[in-house]
Amino acid sequence: MDMNSLFSEAQKLIPGGVNSPVRAFRSVGGTPRFIREAAGSKVIDAEGREYIDYVASWGPMILGHSHPGVVQAIREAAGRGTSYGAPTEIEIEMAKRIVAAFPAIEMVRMMSSGTEATMTAIRLARGYTGREMIIKFTGCYHGHADSLLVKAGSGVATLGIPGSPGIPRRLAELTISLPYNDSASVRDAVRSFGGDLACVIVEPVAGNMGVVPPRPGFLETLREITREKGILLIFDEVITGFRIAYGGWQNLASITPDLTCLGKIIGGGLPVGALGGRREIMEHLAPTGPVYQAGTLSGNPLAMAAGIATLDLLRGKSYSALDKMTETLCSGYRNLFARKGIPVTINRVGSMFTLFFTGEEVTDFASASRSDTERFGRFFQGMLAEGISLAPAQFEAGFTSFAHTDEDISRTLDACGKVLEKL
Ligand SMILES: *Cc1c(COP(=O)(O)O)cnc(C)c1O
Repeated sequence: MDMNSLFSEAQKLIPGGVNSPVRAFRSVGGTPRFIREAAGSKVIDAEGREYIDYVASWGPMILGHSHPGVVQAIREAAGRGTSYGAPTEIEIEMAKRIVAAFPAIEMVRMMSSGTEATMTAIRLARGYTGREMIIKFTGCYHGHADSLLVKAGSGVATLGIPGSPGIPRRLAELTISLPYNDSASVRDAVRSFGGDLACVIVEPVAGNMGVVPPRPGFLETLREITREKGILLIFDEVITGFRIAYGGWQNLASITPDLTCLGKIIGGGLPVGALGGRREIMEHLAPTGPVYQAGTLSGNPLAMAAGIATLDLLRGKSYSALDKMTETLCSGYRNLFARKGIPVTINRVGSMFTLFFTGEEVTDFASASRSDTERFGRFFQGMLAEGISLAPAQFEAGFTSFAHTDEDISRTLDACGKVLEKL
């Protein structure tokens, strides 16, 4: 079936034709590509067109698509049954790897999405501290649990909705949203509400307002202030976990959060999430403690097999080589835009990057929002027509993978050169 027929059929049966809003191309216009298959750095759409892929399923596919080692692990696991609702040895194997990779994690609970991990993290923080208020940062996205959908990033930012209907005002009032990278406003909020604050949750490198790195000292200050007041510090490393390094941003920054949320890469492309932290806090979760959390498919054998295969393959990889390739891409983009005199600010951290269509520095959601999203939309469509698949919104991260080659990068830059001629 052609793309337009697929999309109109899908819209009759699925709200907006998609099972997650940002896939719908609302901010860039046109018809979303329905994907038929993918391998390595390429995805192929339902009409047989091939694209070099920088979406990476929004982060998980760091080894590229259909990596033979991961596919093999999933096949073998599937042959032994797809779910038992009972503990398995493979869950211990997964927990061992996460605990070994993160000094701050002594115990970990596996789940089926990043949303479950962050939702459970704030419930655990509230249960552990006996306090109800939380601090998050505007433009950070932590999944779609009620307390966290306040001034959130990603699709929420793209669609321009500050909160969401359906979230009780009285619950939203317990969430304070502050500007990212603004330590002074955190100090002020803690001075006013300190005794009522259960946690501060942050993406240590923001990826959902586009990529925004933490300013030197920002995360260190969060650690210091929260420790002083008995507030838990939660690092949401659902994107950055095993993306920036084997482990997370916390390993590179040498900061010890109380709780860490993981997802995406640790499932190797299958649905997954995980919450880890200090034993003393984690044991507040049921059944050792009173804070309830559960999941029919948690620790699912296929997801564990795909995740473990991914982590074991990543151990042998050079993240610095991936960073270098990504920098080649980003500096190539910078040169092409400069030559055309089109303002752009490219933020890159490791293998995640965003081209913001603004000449100004981007350090928080307010500065990200100054991007020319209309121009981004035209750039996006131009690149798509040239066979390059970017995330279909300005406020998202792009990702390279270990399957991307130098040839992919130079083809991408060639395409960019052509697109800028007409922009
Ligand atoms: C993707 C993401 C989530 C949510 O994970 P899902 O698996 O989509 O529920 C949470 N936090 C961050 C930082 C993310 O990027």
